[in-house]
Amino acid sequence: MSRNTELFERACRTIPGGVNSPVRAFRSVGGSPRFITRAQGPYMWDAEDTRYIDYVGSWGPAILGHAHPEVIRAVQEAAVNGLSFGAPTEAEIEIAEAIAARLPSIEKVRLVSSGTEATMSAIRLARGVTGRSKIIKFEGCYHGHADSLLVKAGSGMLTFGNPTSAGVPPEFIKHTLVLDYNKLQAVEAAFQEYGSEIACIIVEPIAGNMNLIKPVPGFLEGLRSLCTQYGALLIFDEVMTGFRAGPQGVQGLTGVTPDITTLAKVIGGGMPVGAFGGRADIMEHIAPIGNVYQAGTLSGNPVAVAAGLVTLKLLAEPGFYERLETQSGKLANGLAERAKAAGITMCTDYVGGMFGLYFRDAVPTTFDEVSTCDVELFKKFFHAMLIKGVYFAPSAYEAGFISSAHDDDVIQQTLDIAEEVFTKL
Ligand code: PMP
Repeated sequence: MSRNTELFERACRTIPGGVNSPVRAFRSVGGSPRFITRAQGPYMWDAEDTRYIDYVGSWGPAILGHAHPEVIRAVQEAAVNGLSFGAPTEAEIEIAEAIAARLPSIEKVRLVSSGTEATMSAIRLARGVTGRSKIIKFEGCYHGHADSLLVKAGSGMLTFGNPTSAGVPPEFIKHTLVLDYNKLQAVEAAFQEYGSEIACIIVEPIAGNMNLIKPVPGFLEGLRSLCTQYGALLIFDEVMTGFRAGPQGVQGLTGVTPDITTLAKVIGGGMPVGAFGGRADIMEHIAPIGNVYQAGTLSGNPVAVAAGLVTLKLLAEPGFYERLETQSGKLANGLAERAKAAGITMCTDYVGGMFGLYFRDAVPTTFDEVSTCDVELFKKFFHAMLIKGVYFAPSAYEAGFISSAHDDDVIQQTLDIAEEVFTKL
């Protein structure tokens, strides 16, 4: 039995499903997950010392590649001064200032320890500020696992969803309206019917949890104007896209300004950091000055903040995002060309350091469209690439991530392997 399989069987005896977060278990692609022992730059090594070119990047944070020397040094230096104080530190001010300086929509920001906490808190804040209960989310957008957000749409144009998870009482999500991503008309209809009751819209402004789906022209702008018209708040969940899709996230790319932004992943540089921020008049509703309660024992953790700060500093180097997007383009276009040459129906898309692989004939714009991708073909592709040392996300519905460590050589190696794999699919 392989060492990875051995470890997986052992893990399954004491950890539910053998993993501490579901997608890691390879359930949608089959086989044993790889147990990782170390990672460096664009590579990860598993328990059998097999090396992989990594296109998951810890699901987004590893934008500088793994174990970047400056990030590791910052973590080591912070750690010797103590791991957690439960009292404020200057580094927290610095990271708040760095975030606010780069995202004009953020005047004040509160740190948390995960994306889930960021979105959960942002929604509580939106409800607290507006005094309203209903929220709008879109099918296929993932905002972490807070109860009110674990909802999928039923059929029909406008529907109150059913919980996607056991353990979420229907009463907890009765205020969550689930609509179709990129379909503005349904949002207009929802506001016409419930306008005065809607606290906020939460949206991944570029969706990365149903593969990569970009907003169609006018969608985000439409959400913005509906929120303004009806006095609801617009929350951009940039946990994935923040400092990854571009230097100012999707808000920078589109010029659409949210009222509240949620962040995580990149801003922690691989350590557990999340954040939510927005205009001062909104953020001042939070405790201790306001009446919306939100707290965290490890929030603003000094070691995690040190990793985030140095990451943000390195991202500010001139040309960083241009280079990153160039590499994404080489990978995405290169894969599409090789698939085409081999007669495989597949296309790709990318933005900043994110990409999507779709086993269908055209880039999807909706959840329904992405659902028509050939999942069986994806699984074959995934395993064939994995065996040859390329680690893509183990699901057809996840975006891919590259880092600044994915140089031409690494991309070329990937494309050479893909060329071989496509001809045998
Ligand atoms: N929002 C988005 C857009 C995400 O992609 C994720 C995680 N993939 C979350 C929220 C939840 O973040 P976390 O896993 O850190 O709780």
